[in-house]
Amino acid sequence: MSGWETYVRKVEPYVPGEQPKRKVIKLNTNENPYPPSPRVQKVLDGFDAEELRLYPDPEAADLIEAIALEKGLSKDQIFVGVGSDDVLAMSFLTFFGSDKPILFPDITYSFYDVWAELFRIPYVQIPLQKDFRICIEDYKRENGGIVIPNPNAPTGIAESLDAIEEILKTNPDSVVIIDEAYVDFGTKSALALLPKYENLLVVQTFSKSRSLAGSRIGYAMGSPKLISYLNDCKYSFNSYTMDRLTIQIGKASMEDTPYFKEQVDRIVETREWAKEQLRRLGFTFLDSKANFIFASHAKMAAAVIFAALKEKDIYVRYFNKPRIDNFLRITIGTKEEMERLFAALEEILQQA
Ligand code: PMP
Repeated sequence: MSGWETYVRKVEPYVPGEQPKRKVIKLNTNENPYPPSPRVQKVLDGFDAEELRLYPDPEAADLIEAIALEKGLSKDQIFVGVGSDDVLAMSFLTFFGSDKPILFPDITYSFYDVWAELFRIPYVQIPLQKDFRICIEDYKRENGGIVIPNPNAPTGIAESLDAIEEILKTNPDSVVIIDEAYVDFGTKSALALLPKYENLLVVQTFSKSRSLAGSRIGYAMGSPKLISYLNDCKYSFNSYTMDRLTIQIGKASMEDTPYFKEQVDRIVETREWAKEQLRRLGFTFLDSKANFIFASHAKMAAAVIFAALKEKDIYVRYFNKPRIDNFLRITIGTKEEMERLFAALEEILQQA
């Protein structure tokens, strides 16, 4: 290794799901199968390129105001970023400065250990129980912070608000981040606990339930003190994270609650129907409260099904990792997409 290479900050990066150029049935990255609110299209149609001459509002005030109004919070309780990935990364950097390890589940969003490695944060991955649930007792040990996704990914399993509160009660000296990327599909948000816990940070995203993965908008909600620390770090890194168009897109989307609810209801309905279809085909799966299902088949290996589906231009997600290497994570698409998935699975499973 040449001299300078010794000093490179080396890290094994997160690998996102494939984004194929060809048109396929894409059930691999938990995107929303429906378009964003028509109000978003209106913003795009009315946007004047001349506006791009100027820097955007570093505070993204229009977007923050819309989120505050919808969530019943004050503006100083909200932080926005380029997807919740950006918000979470900034939160790791801001809040996890202890020498004690941060805690998160062993089976979870695979970006957490990447950020911990990148920022040199010590961490311990707490094994999920046999049934893939989080054991709350395991989070009653010394730590430098806690991150829990609720519902968890890729399992889709949701923990109760009481369980989340138990973690907060026993960890008053740590920042506890609840990553609620999939909360809108049927989990109680930890937002209700914000008035009681100054050390709670709730992170949500426009990528899933609001159909805006392509715009990259995420946000954190917490006590004014937490948000102020987050802003200090953000302004020490990049003042203008949200561009002019994105701020307006996010605002328009957040203001269209009826449309948002309608699309979420459709996805939840399709998810529950999809569970019946998977059962009929001999799959077992975890009780997902997200916009995906984590499923396994007794007669055919997940890796084989994954490859066979890909052959048919149907993309799902497969993780070749201990304990979950016989599962497929299937994003809930439109009813039509799911019907095509099940027809393909029926054909593939005939070879089982
Ligand atoms: N948290 C979890 C648990 C996720 O699955 C994802 C999606 N990959 C994210 C956060 C990040 O989503 P985004 O950056 O699109 O908001």
